[in-house]
Amino acid sequence: MYIKDIIKIFENKYPKSLSYNWDNVGLIVGDEMSKVTKILVTLEATQAVIDEAVEKNVNLIITHHPFIFKGLKKINTSTTKGNDIYKLIKNNISLYSAHTNFDIAYDGLNDEIVKRLDLRDVLVLDTTYNQKLYKISVYAPLSHQECIRKAMVDMGCGNIGNYSDCSFTFNGLGRFKPLNKSNPYIGVKNEIETVEEVKIESICEESNLSDAINNIIKAHPYEEVAYDIYELKNVGKQYGLGRIGNLENNIKFKELAECVKESLNIKDLKVTGNLEEYVNKIAIVSGSGSEFINKAHNMGADVLITGDVKYHDAQNALELGIKLIDAGHFGSENIFSDIVVQYLQNKFENIEILKSKSNINPFITI
Ligand SMILES: [Zn+2]
Repeated sequence: MYIKDIIKIFENKYPKSLSYNWDNVGLIVGDEMSKVTKILVTLEATQAVIDEAVEKNVNLIITHHPFIFKGLKKINTSTTKGNDIYKLIKNNISLYSAHTNFDIAYDGLNDEIVKRLDLRDVLVLDTTYNQKLYKISVYAPLSHQECIRKAMVDMGCGNIGNYSDCSFTFNGLGRFKPLNKSNPYIGVKNEIETVEEVKIESICEESNLSDAINNIIKAHPYEEVAYDIYELKNVGKQYGLGRIGNLENNIKFKELAECVKESLNIKDLKVTGNLEEYVNKIAIVSGSGSEFINKAHNMGADVLITGDVKYHDAQNALELGIKLIDAGHFGSENIFSDIVVQYLQNKFENIEILKSKSNINPFITI
């Protein structure tokens, strides 16, 4: 297994294209053609994490926070970053980061918190992208209809709401004349051929379109595959930062705060607002989400759960009447490792996937 294979599967779920323009995600250090037997997952690649990776013979580190964010002019051992990069390369360790794409994608950080708090009727808090939808029509001989339908579904075609494998087929007659340079699967050169064919149609998201077409061409027996792609007006999946949803029942704010501590496995957090009041509609922005206080309030949230809340942001929230839970930047994002380890373990049985044991929280509460 090569790093590029891991990246391909990972980015099927957490596409790089979802990240913000200012972000720096993907393979930050290393060689995508390197072999992988052991992966270490962490929120942050500190010196301790890199030492841990060297000691455990890891080939790939996956982090949430981009390992390199600003431009570097030198890479040498006189700076901490230079020393880290030098150590990674010397030990043949690659490093991959999935940041805002992991916050935005479905089943990323924000959705994991939604799941742990058991929120319902969940919506995206701040939309960044609407997935375009396409219809693919492909013409094939009757003998190949099943394998072409499979080729489409395998690449993510045919998903409509709570249904998968959706397609439509109609039978008809296909006509063509193989020209001099052709090598026809059916028919002979310079004679018009009529073949019983099927037209298979299925819906496809923009992000899967080129993979789906390539897979159809691979499965199709014809030298020249006849297919059409139509852009649809149907509304596709909405992507964005943060989530907002409802609890099953109204609960006291202090109960919610306890529940957040337990579900994120943290010892302490800060809150603003009356702990005795009841709450139901909860907004979540993992990491630093103070800039979404107004948005969450406008969408009717009783509480915003986030991290890195500054004094004036807390004052603003109090004035607006929205409660805040500041679980800390580390506290609200450290579950990154749990999500990635579980996802990759299900996909790659023969690769050892470890959660870093290094303590990366820079704060100690006394
Ligand atoms: Zn963060």
